[in-house]
Amino acid sequence: MSMEAVGVLMMSPMNSYLEEELDKRFKLFRLWNFPQKDDFLKQNSDFIHAIVGNPFFGTDRELIDSLPVLEIVSSFSVGSDHVDLAYCKEKGISVTNTPDVLNEDVADTAIGLILATLRGICECDRYVRARLWKKGDFKLTTKFSGKKVGIIGLGRIGTAIAKRAEAFNCPISYYSRSQKPESKYKYFPSVVELASDCDILVVACALTAETRHIINRQVIDALGPKGFLINIGRGPHIDEPELVSALVERRIAGAGLDVFEKEPHVPEELFGLDNVVLLPHVASGTVETRNAMADLVVGNLEAHFSKKPLLTPVV
Ligand code: NAP
Repeated sequence: MSMEAVGVLMMSPMNSYLEEELDKRFKLFRLWNFPQKDDFLKQNSDFIHAIVGNPFFGTDRELIDSLPVLEIVSSFSVGSDHVDLAYCKEKGISVTNTPDVLNEDVADTAIGLILATLRGICECDRYVRARLWKKGDFKLTTKFSGKKVGIIGLGRIGTAIAKRAEAFNCPISYYSRSQKPESKYKYFPSVVELASDCDILVVACALTAETRHIINRQVIDALGPKGFLINIGRGPHIDEPELVSALVERRIAGAGLDVFEKEPHVPEELFGLDNVVLLPHVASGTVETRNAMADLVVGNLEAHFSKKPLLTPVV
């Protein structure tokens, strides 16, 4: 099959550069342009060989079953929790992701969230804009440098966060599926032990059945009223109602969150709190990184359809 005959389905607009690059090479179907999406899929199912998805538009069993000639899912993300990996494997469908190129941005965002949360940077900004400075000084906040940082998931991103936190003189410890014998950081065999021993707990692991709600009531209690929680992983890592009540009742000191359980929904109770910083899932959202991710998405499709080894295979 020639490249131009390869049908690529995108379910939502995610990046204009990505669309341009896909348009140049393949036959791109923009599902959002068709009001009757189900009808469009039924009529074109024999022409869709690839899906370009992201965490908001996943690939489930139903979609896979509706596309008989689907060969590859090339995800515009490093996480692949939104793709039914087991079913893709069973059906011989390849899955690729965009690892490494986003490590720096996501780790930078984690540090930004830590600083914003502990130092109240967003609240300070609101304070100045509300002309409150003239009425008095801003309250004192919490120092970051030297605080104990605990990382859940010492993978590519977790390691980049650790490296940055080291520059702030923070002792680093971690919990992962496996202990890293080559790592100089302290390993804890459970999340509760890690949470008990750190000031700032950062979630940076992959979302799987095992890590869903890895932050539960017990972990929050172990982190305690002086502890801060940062999440740049995925929303379902946290039992959100438990976190909301802990924040409202000040059973933890604060939280910096890039991701939520049911995006773009964010629990109303968080909006009035001064101890949280809320971001709309933007950890990798820079022009530079999204373009690099787009190049990987396209590179994986080109490799697959020219029968070369995939650049970054998941399945
Ligand atoms: P990675 O290199 O594969 O690292 C994943 C880490 O998760 C590994 O340390 C792994 O432990 C750990 N892990 C997996 N299953 C676990 C379990 N059952 N218990 C404990 N730890 C477990 O992935 P990455 O590139 O660093 O990305 C990590 C995640 O960040 C992605 O999956 C994605 O969900 C999230 N992310 C979010 C954004 C955002 O916009 N907020 C952007 C990019 C990525 P082992 O090392 O022991 O295997």
